[in-house]
Amino acid sequence: MTFKDLDLNKPLLKAIDAANYTVPTLIQEQTIPLVLKKKDIIASAQTGTGKTAAFALPILQLLFDKQDAPKKGKKIRALVISPTRELAVQIGKNFKAYSTYTNLRPTVIFGGTGIEPQIEILKKGVDIVIATPGRLLDLHKQDLINLAHIEILVLDEADLMLDMGFIDDIKKIERLCPETKQSLLFSATMPYKVEQLASSILKSPERIEVTPTSSPTKNVSQLLYYVPKRNKIELCLHLLRNTVKGNVLIFRRTKFGVDKLEQALSKNGYNVDRLHGDRSQSERQTALNKFKNGKVNILIATDVAARGIDINELDTVINFDLPNIPETYVHRIGRTGRANHFGQSYSFCSADEKSYVKKIQQLINVQIPIEEHHPYPLDPSAKPIVHKKKGSKYKKGRKGEGSKKKKKRWY
Ligand code: AMP
Repeated sequence: MTFKDLDLNKPLLKAIDAANYTVPTLIQEQTIPLVLKKKDIIASAQTGTGKTAAFALPILQLLFDKQDAPKKGKKIRALVISPTRELAVQIGKNFKAYSTYTNLRPTVIFGGTGIEPQIEILKKGVDIVIATPGRLLDLHKQDLINLAHIEILVLDEADLMLDMGFIDDIKKIERLCPETKQSLLFSATMPYKVEQLASSILKSPERIEVTPTSSPTKNVSQLLYYVPKRNKIELCLHLLRNTVKGNVLIFRRTKFGVDKLEQALSKNGYNVDRLHGDRSQSERQTALNKFKNGKVNILIATDVAARGIDINELDTVINFDLPNIPETYVHRIGRTGRANHFGQSYSFCSADEKSYVKKIQQLINVQIPIEEHHPYPLDPSAKPIVHKKKGSKYKKGRKGEGSKKKKKRWY
């Protein structure tokens, strides 16, 4: 199948050509015709499958084909909601590239950076907004954005948006758009809460599923290292010195863990940067650009900060901490081994993470090969270390006190 077979118009075909896409990916083949038929869609697809173009191209075509000439430019007609700033920026870049030969104007709106330039762009008039929920609602509160003319709404990475606690924001945004709109929901995983959200927003949706998250790509080799928690940094250094080649994305579960590992690797002379939710927008963007341009070859990240980010030709993924959600393992290692590129993944498992390995192997239905010959083996009978908090038995304050305190995100 070619893009021409998908009935895309000339300006889009020209942009596709300029992007050097020769054939549509599976999700594009399935999604584009349905979006063009104005169907609501619930699609299970990960980053890397080409899902951005799968919704961006037909949205651009629908908007391009139906233009209300005199009022052109004064109404926002399509809205894409993204959980993270980085993903919003990336989607925005794609929209910009694909709309090059049209008169449609996309813009990106996200927090953590000055609001004024965004207001200026909105005032000039845009057709498509790609936004993170918080900043979008801020602008709406100040009456600076009107969502009453949205024809198409996209919720991208819906599972992550729910994990990040955006459920109320999403529902609010959805209610600000007209009821007659077309809605598209994309999610890497389809837990019950995503299905619930979908049924409250989508009207008789078509279901699309591409590469179930339970199957890691065949282009990624996997290796498991049992290692005491206290030796993980040494093992990481050992692998970087002796085994790992090319650029490396290292996953840690917490922001604190990311910082700690960054310090250790820097101290040992490695060129390294980090990505997590406590860093400012510009710091995150710089870290990512440096990694993409090869200025640093090791990036350490939490799952949320790294999700959705497209890094071409990533050689190695290290799971410094194993994820407690098995699907996350598949997402992580799926960052490498894309598009005929071969990748390696190394996972460190300490005594308290053994149950995660079990769950991951059940999901992927494969026994991950174990590397037994390394300098920091874990005693097979080792039991998890349980850290008891001193004095926790005698809590200060009344029972239930502090329960309303906002939980700080650790990702
Ligand atoms: P996405 O899943 O949208 O993040 O896309 C992953 C990568 O695939 C991006 O770098 C896109 O530019 C690229 N891509 C999207 N569609 C195609 C295609 N049909 N052929 C080749 N590359 C593509």
